[in-house]
Amino acid sequence: KEKNAHQPEFLQAAEEILLSLTPVFEQHPEYIEHNILSRIVEPDRIISFRVTWQDDNNKVHVNRGYRVQFNNVIGPYKGGLRFHPSVNESIMKFLAFEQIFKNALTSLPIGGGKGGSDFDPKGKSDAEIMRFCQAFMTELYRHIGPDVDVPAGDIGVGGREIGYLWGQYKRIRGAYEAGVLTGKKPGYGGSLARKEATGYGLVYFVGEMLREKNESFLNKTVVVSGSGNVAIYAIEKAQHYGAKVVAASDSSGYIHDPEGIDLHALKEIKEVKSERISSYLNYRPNATFTAGCNGIWSIPCDIALPCATQNEIDGDAARLLIKNGVKFVAEGANMPSDLEAINEFLANDVYFGPAKAANAGGVATSALEMSQNSGRTSWTFTEVDEKLQEIMHSIYAQSKEAAEKYGFAGNLVVGSNIAGFVKVADGLVSEGVY
Ligand code: NDP
Repeated sequence: KEKNAHQPEFLQAAEEILLSLTPVFEQHPEYIEHNILSRIVEPDRIISFRVTWQDDNNKVHVNRGYRVQFNNVIGPYKGGLRFHPSVNESIMKFLAFEQIFKNALTSLPIGGGKGGSDFDPKGKSDAEIMRFCQAFMTELYRHIGPDVDVPAGDIGVGGREIGYLWGQYKRIRGAYEAGVLTGKKPGYGGSLARKEATGYGLVYFVGEMLREKNESFLNKTVVVSGSGNVAIYAIEKAQHYGAKVVAASDSSGYIHDPEGIDLHALKEIKEVKSERISSYLNYRPNATFTAGCNGIWSIPCDIALPCATQNEIDGDAARLLIKNGVKFVAEGANMPSDLEAINEFLANDVYFGPAKAANAGGVATSALEMSQNSGRTSWTFTEVDEKLQEIMHSIYAQSKEAAEKYGFAGNLVVGSNIAGFVKVADGLVSEGVY
């Protein structure tokens, strides 16, 4: 704790996992003997670098870039790149740490990593985004590779940015190593259904949670925060199953449309025009817009899907959701609920799906993209989607079974932490001390 005292997000993520592991250590003395705990909380390496780029007025800017290569016991480091002004070493480390266990849960051969920059893409021209991506990759390329470390997108990094990063990597390396990045567009090595995978996967996971309680999405009221990649495709799939999604947000505020979100309008605002979410009222005048994000959790719902960013649900927001009757909460974003919120949900009979299980569909499909790249082939949307459904089913089953095995039946936080951890710990023991 002292060593990382200046890294609150990393400490929060580590605490959430480590608190779940006591029963595991009681049953696995070999983990204590091999000092797995100390080995697993220390990243293999943290790379930090200067990114210098020029804006459209020829002004020179400097940002900081990161890649945290946390653990590669199960496969090459794998995790997204985030471009957002809030990015710092603590946030990179928490995301990479979570990624280790999430990736282990997918049962695919991928280790844990994460990267990004404090660069703010908002308000930048397309040419500025391209120059930034090229400058970023000019430094990052020496640390990654299809068998070493495979970055992907995250907040602020979508298909356009991955395209620019990929172009620069290819130019520098002089080789067509398609498997070095995932989230590429279909047509030059991308996988169909990758764009939809995190949101769809989240809804498949919630489908398993609902089935457990003999419920379904039909006619359920759902609140989704965010309106980015994860949120949009979670809304799409939840609506497909008959749910009524009544709210969405961005960092400026949230919209409430009691008749159900018009997804076509939301996609046009976010995917085509890149406008603020308040523009939604131009399409649906009866909806309301409220400035500020937190209030979204005051809207009564059966199912809450936080899909924006870390720590968007605190204890107060959780208590409000519970008071208004929420029964299911599942995390599309990484660590959107703080520890107090999670404890409120668990103590009040809310069935809670933690991020590392519920949003693993994105990285799982990234691993499927790597498989397609290695096999120099591409699968249909339906093939990928079917595999995604199987993977989400398996993640749910592993989390549920691990919780039961270690005496925490119904607690998917403990279950997913243990199921992921045991795979990585066993790998560390087998590899010997290094
Ligand atoms: P996007 O950049 O596509 O969208 C992010 C959304 O969250 C936007 O609506 C954004 O609003 C909003 N947002 C960002 N910061 C804040 C904030 N501080 N307060 C309120 N809203 C905010 O990102 P993704 O949809 O890809 O990622 C969302 C979350 O899901 C992240 O936690 C990410 O790590 C996680 N995730 C993503 C995966 C993926 O495949 N993309 C996979 C697994 C997890 P605005 O536009 O105003 O900034």
